Amino acid sequence: MTETTRIPFAVPDIGPDEVAAVTRVLESGWLTTGPETKAFEREFAAKVGATHAVALNSCTAALHLALEAIGVGPSDEVIVPTLTFAATAEVVRYLGAKPVLVDVLPGDHQVDPSRVAAAVSDRTKAVVPVHFGGQACELAALREIAEYHHLRVIEDAAHALPASYRGAPIGAQADVACFSFYATKTITTGEGGMAVTCDPELEDRMRIMSLHGISRDAWKRYTASGSWRYDIIAPGFKYNMADMAAAVGRVQLGRADAMRERREAIAHRYLESLSGHEAFEPLSVRADGHHAWHLFVIKVRNEAWSIGRDALIDALKEAGVGTSVHFIPLHCHSYYRDMYGYAPGDFPVAHDVFERSLSLPIYSSMTDAQVGRVLDVILDLAARHRR
Ligand SMILES: *Cc1c(COP(=O)(O)O)cnc(C)c1O
Repeated sequence: MTETTRIPFAVPDIGPDEVAAVTRVLESGWLTTGPETKAFEREFAAKVGATHAVALNSCTAALHLALEAIGVGPSDEVIVPTLTFAATAEVVRYLGAKPVLVDVLPGDHQVDPSRVAAAVSDRTKAVVPVHFGGQACELAALREIAEYHHLRVIEDAAHALPASYRGAPIGAQADVACFSFYATKTITTGEGGMAVTCDPELEDRMRIMSLHGISRDAWKRYTASGSWRYDIIAPGFKYNMADMAAAVGRVQLGRADAMRERREAIAHRYLESLSGHEAFEPLSVRADGHHAWHLFVIKVRNEAWSIGRDALIDALKEAGVGTSVHFIPLHCHSYYRDMYGYAPGDFPVAHDVFERSLSLPIYSSMTDAQVGRVLDVILDLAARHRR
C-alpha cells in the first residue's frame, strides 16, 4: 500500500491563508500574545454567542483555569463523565479536588444526567460535561441539577465547534465552555484552547491566572500605552496563546462552518451505509441542534461479528484505514483505579461502549473517494466475518 492510498485517522486542514497569516505575524516582529490574540478572542466570542473569551495554549489550560476561577479546592468534588480524555479529570486533581466519575448514556455516549444527580454530595462544586464527539450533551437537565444544588457547569467543548443545542451555539449561556485547537480538533492552531464565559468576574480571574497571576492586560506594558508597573496577585500559570497561533486560529474560525458542512456530508454518507446494518450501531443524533461531527463513532454488534472490535481495528489498519477509540474510560486507567478504587465494572455503559466502539476518519480534507474506500473496506470485512 502506498502513502497516497493510506487514509489517516485525522488530518488538519491547513491552506494558503493560514500560511500567509503566520508569515504576516512573523514579519510583524510581535510573536507572543498581542493584537492577533485579542482579535481572535473577540471573533471567537461573537461566533459562539459569549461575551468574553480568553485564548490559551490548550483546552486543558482552559478547564484548569475555569475550575480555579470558580474556586475549586482540595475539599471539593467535581463530577466528570468516565468516558472522556485524560484532561477533563486531571485538572480537578491539579487543584487537589476529587473527580467523581459517572456513567454515560448508551445511545449518544453523553454524560447521564440521572447519574450526575445521584453523584451530587455536599462537597460537589461543579459538573464538567463533555459534548462527546461534537454533539451537545443534555445541557438543560444538567443546568437544572446544577441550579438546584448551586453547582457550576464547566463545559468540556473540546469537540464542539461549531455546534448548537436547542438553537443556541455551544458556548452561549455557559458558566465557562472550554474549546480545543489541538491538531486533530475541528479547528486548529497546532496547540491551543479558548475559555468562553458571560461572567466578567470569571473572565477576569481566568485572564489573570493565565499569565502568572499578573494584574490585568500585562502585555500592554510592553507597548507605548503601557506602563512598566504590574502586580502579582496570585501564583498563576503560563497559559497564554501566542499571536502566531491566534493568526492561524482566526483563519480557521472563518472556515469553521464550511469545514463542518464537509464533515456533515461525510457523516451522512457513513450513516446511509452503516445505520441499520446488522453489524454496526452508529450513535444516535439529536434533532435539536447542529452536530460539529468531530468524531464518527460506531459500535460493533458482537452478535454479528466473529472477530470483535480489536481485530476489526487491526484489519482496517492493514487495509490502510486509520481509526481510533474514544475513549478508554478514566476508571479503567491505573491512576484512577489505584487512587479511588474504581473497577472496570463500576460503569457498565461506558465499559460496554468502550469495548465495542471505534471512530472512523472524518475530516474536511477527506475526498469522496476516500470516504467510499473506508465504507468498501469496512462493509467487505463485515461480510467476510459475520457470525
Ligand atoms: C482534546 C481534548 C481535550 C484537551 O484539549 P487540549 O487542547 O489538547 O488540551 C479535553 N477534553 C477532551 C474531551 C478532548 O478530546
